[in-house]
Amino acid sequence: MNGSPSPDPARAALREHDAGERVVPSEARERVVPPGAQGLAGRLAQLRARIDAAARCAGRDPDSVKLLAVSKTFDADLVLALAELGQRAFGENYVQEAVAKMDACRDRRPEAGLEWHFIGPIQSNKTRTIAERFDWVHSIDREKIATRLGEQRPESLPPLDCCVQVNVSGEASKSGCAPEDAPAVARAIAAQPRLKLRGVMAIPEPTEDLALQRMRFAAARAVLQGLRDELAGDHAKAIVTLDTLSMGMSADLESAVAEGATIVRIGSALFGHRPRIVAG
Ligand SMILES: *Cc1c(COP(=O)(O)O)cnc(C)c1O
Repeated sequence: MNGSPSPDPARAALREHDAGERVVPSEARERVVPPGAQGLAGRLAQLRARIDAAARCAGRDPDSVKLLAVSKTFDADLVLALAELGQRAFGENYVQEAVAKMDACRDRRPEAGLEWHFIGPIQSNKTRTIAERFDWVHSIDREKIATRLGEQRPESLPPLDCCVQVNVSGEASKSGCAPEDAPAVARAIAAQPRLKLRGVMAIPEPTEDLALQRMRFAAARAVLQGLRDELAGDHAKAIVTLDTLSMGMSADLESAVAEGATIVRIGSALFGHRPRIVAG
């Protein structure tokens, strides 16, 4: 820590999560001063140290936890500044915003080799763009979306890496399929030659109760294990790549890593507060 009286990012994340997030045009967003490149380097180093400590604490190899930088609402300058520091994987929630950012990054740094992950809710009319522009999709929660993505993934690109988003919070959350529906969604992904089934993604409800955090993440891990067992018979090839547990955000990454997260999706701990939505 560098001693500045910064607000607690975990609390801020919880507040924002409670407030909910909507798709809004970028001009409706509050203007915030992004962290300078110097601040970004410090935050990245602190974050990587947090992840590494959590992994060691759990007896895991720190290299087994990949950092996905969630750049939603932040512009291409910050993405490229982070790329300069060695970060390759970026997560986005809103298709239009993401595509504009990808184009800006590609124009300015065609050689950067960035990897783009779609992590937001998926509307049917957005699947084509997602299939054509992204490397990963974490948020597939129905068979129909899997089928569309598979049919729309261009032959010229490698198969799209896919996760089934599972709701491990019951009534407390709306996104993701029920754990008992995960095998059907997983089979719909495995059936598509242009898709590669990688694992499970979860966004448990925000809570400061560490035991509850652990319980939710353990439930996601159990769903992944269930898929390995259930699909072992029919899709031998799919089993080989069921290697991903996408879970853990700025406020709860330690619990997620303790329960086996292989990708943590981090926004505010890296970039600072996201711009708030300004009404009107
Ligand atoms: C915004 C977002 C994140 C990052 O959240 P932070 O609390 O800022 O780290 C991770 N995953 C998803 C799906 C998100 O929408």
